[in-house]
Amino acid sequence: MIRYFIITLLLTNLFSIQAQKTNIVKMEVDEFESPIGLDSPNPNFSWVIKSNKYNLNQTHYQILVATDKTFLKNSLVWDSGKVPSSESVYTSYSGKDLTYDKSYYWTVKVWHNQSSKPIQSKISSWRTGLMKTSGWNNRWVSVLEEDNSKLNTKSPYFKNEFEINKKIKSAYLYITSKGMYEAFINGQRVGDLYLTPGWTSYDNRIQYQAYDVTKMVESKNGIGVVIGKGWYHGTFMGAEPNNENYKGDLYSFISELVITYEDGTKEKILNDEKWKYFHGAILHSEIYDGEKFNANLINNYWSSFGVDNENSKKAMFDTYDGKLISTSNELIKRHEIFKPKKLITTPSGDKVIDFGQNLVGWVEFTSNGQKDQEVKLYHAEILFQDEFYIDNLRGADQLNTYILNGDPDYVYRPHFTFQGFRYLKIEGMEEIDLNKFKAVALYSDMKRSGAFSSSNPLINQLQSNIEWGQKGNFLDVPTDCPQRDERLGWTGDAQAFFNTAGFLRDVKNFFDKWMVDLEYDQYENGLVPSVIPDVLDNKRPRNGGSAGWADAVTIISWNSFLIYGDKGQLALRYNSMKKWVDYMISQSKNGLYKGGDHYGDWLFYSRPNDPPGLSAVSNKYMIAQAFYQYSTDLLIKAAKILNKDSDVLYYKGIWDTANKAFHDEYITKNGMIIGDTQTAYVLSLKFGLLSGYNQKIAFERLVENVERYGHLTTGFLGTPYLCEVLSSNGRPDLAIKLLLRENYPSWLYPVTKGATTIWERWNGIMSDGNLSDAGMNSYNHYAYGAIGEWMYNNLMGLKVNEKYPGFKRYTIEPIFDKNFEDIQGAFESNYGKIKVSWVRKNGNINLTLEIPPNTSSDVILNKNKNEKNWTLDDIKLNSKIIDRKDTDNKTIFLLGSGEYKFSYVE
Ligand code: BGC
Repeated sequence: MIRYFIITLLLTNLFSIQAQKTNIVKMEVDEFESPIGLDSPNPNFSWVIKSNKYNLNQTHYQILVATDKTFLKNSLVWDSGKVPSSESVYTSYSGKDLTYDKSYYWTVKVWHNQSSKPIQSKISSWRTGLMKTSGWNNRWVSVLEEDNSKLNTKSPYFKNEFEINKKIKSAYLYITSKGMYEAFINGQRVGDLYLTPGWTSYDNRIQYQAYDVTKMVESKNGIGVVIGKGWYHGTFMGAEPNNENYKGDLYSFISELVITYEDGTKEKILNDEKWKYFHGAILHSEIYDGEKFNANLINNYWSSFGVDNENSKKAMFDTYDGKLISTSNELIKRHEIFKPKKLITTPSGDKVIDFGQNLVGWVEFTSNGQKDQEVKLYHAEILFQDEFYIDNLRGADQLNTYILNGDPDYVYRPHFTFQGFRYLKIEGMEEIDLNKFKAVALYSDMKRSGAFSSSNPLINQLQSNIEWGQKGNFLDVPTDCPQRDERLGWTGDAQAFFNTAGFLRDVKNFFDKWMVDLEYDQYENGLVPSVIPDVLDNKRPRNGGSAGWADAVTIISWNSFLIYGDKGQLALRYNSMKKWVDYMISQSKNGLYKGGDHYGDWLFYSRPNDPPGLSAVSNKYMIAQAFYQYSTDLLIKAAKILNKDSDVLYYKGIWDTANKAFHDEYITKNGMIIGDTQTAYVLSLKFGLLSGYNQKIAFERLVENVERYGHLTTGFLGTPYLCEVLSSNGRPDLAIKLLLRENYPSWLYPVTKGATTIWERWNGIMSDGNLSDAGMNSYNHYAYGAIGEWMYNNLMGLKVNEKYPGFKRYTIEPIFDKNFEDIQGAFESNYGKIKVSWVRKNGNINLTLEIPPNTSSDVILNKNKNEKNWTLDDIKLNSKIIDRKDTDNKTIFLLGSGEYKFSYVE
């Protein structure tokens, strides 16, 4: 079904390209289409050109920005002039100072090499946020001390009223909270975002949101704000003190409603003394434990004008020392809705709904139940021996309790929590009507970028599992897992999965935001904590500096640059990258890095009773040395891009000394790397630590090792690179063998066990049906999903070219492996959609490529045994080929924009 959808999607786009001409189809400001509430004084403009012309390249652009759509002189704030450039991404605004709470309009004119006439975009817009000039008065509306989140778990419902006497042009609500909030105006919920304001390094910064509420504001208005504990006051595994309230205990929020009247004047309201609060329906709310909600304690009108809520108290005011910043990432929204697949009665009599997909979000329902009836909803990922299984949730209750109000149309849902689940156990309902339940997936609203489908249904399910691993763990920050009492931004997991994530969704803003929090939470001495935001509070001896975890700072910064090509962002990250490398240098002696406490190749293949010693234990300090060198190497690459010549020189020296130390300490004379594991060879080869004889031997040993075991043995650190190292060193067949293996340990093993997400362990459910240790056995942990990148890189064949970051020029080199009849792949780059699909039929391979305008691709195709060549179906297109090189066994075409169909006799 998913596959049918993807193919239809690909075809629809294919046909529509025939009819269209050249135009500008996507216009973004800071990676958003028509955003509101941006504080950046120099936002970035990007646009996408669509065309059916071959080899189209932009030659010049001109951007105009104005305060209205006329673009007349008096409204113009920036005219970039006609700039000779092929750059159509991340062009920074450099016009007049921008004003707060104001709409700006922009348009871009593009000249290209296929016509003497330029093309003109439509008019697009963005709106600034409160910017610095407005300031916030630092009056956070808050509860009395006696109602702080430690003493009272009930959510405060804040309420205020205001009247408007003039005609309104626009009204924008700017708001954020300590805790999570939902806001209401005149009984209507404001916006479609959830779990706001998101999660940042709260000691340092909190994001605020902007909402266009023009249509909600009337002459007499009521406004309401409900606050829950959320990530700010919430309980976290390992947080200090006592796992709770780690940032503060007063529920509070700050807001400004900025009204612009028709007469041009502005007014800011809501920062007055009139706020009151009462305790309503949300009796308790925790991220891990769920929510308790009494629907009898609230009515739909509580936020309306003129409604006096009983037992209201006058609100207090609180302050905040950090920065208030506008939102720079896509926030959490509702996405897929799942209807129950079936109702199960377990052997012990539990009533359980199966939603068919392990997802993250919550369940909504209506009920014919009686007033005051209590309904309990428990959430679990799997059934074990046909019973509802919650042991792997550890201390997380994942329980939502509702006290019904007797209204059959009332929709029950939680507010400030989320659950990771496929199964729902219901208590307190006599009869369960499946039509009244639905599961709602919540995740950060990143645009989809990739589509991948193949002739192998197991691989397609694996792809789907990888995607659901991402959806479930990308709730404002990248987490390890979304169900047990953890759900933290583990750095190692995030770096391992980053490239795959980037193929599936546009994760630019998501990670740019998180990397700023990483920098805020990085220790003075450069150490990078294990989780970001650092709720473990720098207090644990082991919190930080672990090889492959802390290196998220260099790996993600660099890989993001490769996928998106945003040099400005790389420059912003540079200091933080450097601090981490300098920390490792400070812990090294003669190039040997012996510092830190390391998680190692976490969750590698190991056996419980292991007399023959088959567990693949890699030496932790060897791994640390390899990552030390890798991070240094990435820092050097960044320094080159940013023209920091003296840094390039200095860190090259560091790398050389470290590499000598690596060889002296960890490689034997015969070329064995200490530990002799797949991970040892894979990291050394991938990170370029070997050359000549050592490189040759290491690869031979890796191949021998894989063949000896007959399967992978890698953990979190080796897994992302295993297949890549095999295929790029000439053994794609072995990579594919590992990919297609169905027995434990392998990527497809969980698929054969019915998994709908990626598991934390290779054997979360063992071959005999038993489960791995409940203490650490999540069924939604994306790290091993890092194989996703390999499938895009090799089966679709799309690879980034480091010399032309951001997919300006890239490589297409599919492996036409006999195990596949076809592969359909697409990737939405910053320049437009790249498509690669190939089909094998009657000894022929037909390959279809689509190269978007303003980009080019080196297409590398293998010749067959008789050295017969690939031919273009339409010979007229031969003239469009920019360049062609033939080697003994390969043909390399350089292609510009357009659609190309090649065929080949195997
Ligand atoms: C998490 C991992 C994390 C690890 C650190 C676990 O509890 O779930 O994914 O990276 O700790 O070793």
